[in-house]
Amino acid sequence: MKFLDQAKVYVRSGAGGAGAVSFHREKFIEMGGPDGGDGGKGGDVWVEAVDGLNTLIDYRYQQHFKATTGGHGMGRQRAGANTPDVILKVPAGTQIFEDDNETLIADLAKAGDRVRVAKGGNGGFGNAYFKSATNRAPRHANPGQDAEERWIWLRLKLIADAGLVGLPNAGKSTMLAAVSAAKPKIADYPFTTLHPQLGVVRAAGSSFVLADIPGLIEGAHEGHGLGTRFLGHVERCAVLLHLIDVTSADPVKDYRIIRKELKAYSPALAEKPEIIAFNKIDLLPTDEIDAKLKDFKRRARKTPLLLSGATQAGVDDAMKQLLTVIETARRKGRPADEPGMSSGEWRP
Ligand code: GDP
Ligand code: MG
Repeated sequence: MKFLDQAKVYVRSGAGGAGAVSFHREKFIEMGGPDGGDGGKGGDVWVEAVDGLNTLIDYRYQQHFKATTGGHGMGRQRAGANTPDVILKVPAGTQIFEDDNETLIADLAKAGDRVRVAKGGNGGFGNAYFKSATNRAPRHANPGQDAEERWIWLRLKLIADAGLVGLPNAGKSTMLAAVSAAKPKIADYPFTTLHPQLGVVRAAGSSFVLADIPGLIEGAHEGHGLGTRFLGHVERCAVLLHLIDVTSADPVKDYRIIRKELKAYSPALAEKPEIIAFNKIDLLPTDEIDAKLKDFKRRARKTPLLLSGATQAGVDDAMKQLLTVIETARRKGRPADEPGMSSGEWRP
């Protein structure tokens, strides 16, 4: 399974505006001559990589992008207006493919990279243009050039922005499903759950990629190490969400087990900012949760959020908190992609 986000979109440029056929008319001036203006240029369609985007999720909602036709030429030598370009903004790292999803058109590696995917038609000449010594009154003008249209694929290798950690049964998979697929708004987004262990989360008008990491740490215990390529994906995440089953006899102990594993397994991951949460709060009465919170604060000196992946209590807020950390990290700039880490494929 590839960690790929992709979307197919239709783009169409604007056709050129038609040139005008017109003759100058004014009182007392006979045969004023041709004065039909040129048509304007139709808009181009561009794809441009920008900062601050991380997924292609928006292209699941809007798939058609059309520039408008150039303005037609008019009498009295008035040219038609050029129409604006349409720009599809995508995250850096997006690749653009032909309709076949194989032929590469462009690789927009960094913010500011852009490519024209449909060229706007030039406007046609008006009849004023065709005036010559031998033809003083041309009666024809050019039509504008045709629009260009095509389907293209946008493809992005996903890199996890946030990682879910916690003991087996802490509710990581449930949480990932709850935040990335269960919301009706994004239920029809086919790439939301690209893999049981990776999801695209939409929060506060932005989006990020959440990965279920410690399925892997669990696996590492049993001797099948986690693919180093996958580690490459998750080690660049900006923040961890550490889930602790609130019904556990000793949440502090659970917490420490995972911290220890993280340090042993990936010191880089262990150093990430961490948001701690008691999960499954729907299973306990408030006073018991409070008692556990108190104990946790006292012994671990941290204050967990309270969540339930099952009822979604507290989940939106937790996602927003993750996003805040992620956006701060994005502003500081991601570490450069290391060679060999970008294969985007991981097999357990
Ligand atoms: P993982 O091993 O960390 O991925 O945990 P899972 O998501 O597979 O959850 C383990 C078990 O806990 C499953 O039976 C889930 O249905 C249950 N579970 C997970 N989250 C919640 C929750 O918020 N509330 C309740 N009541 N059960 C939950
Ligand atoms: Mg799981």
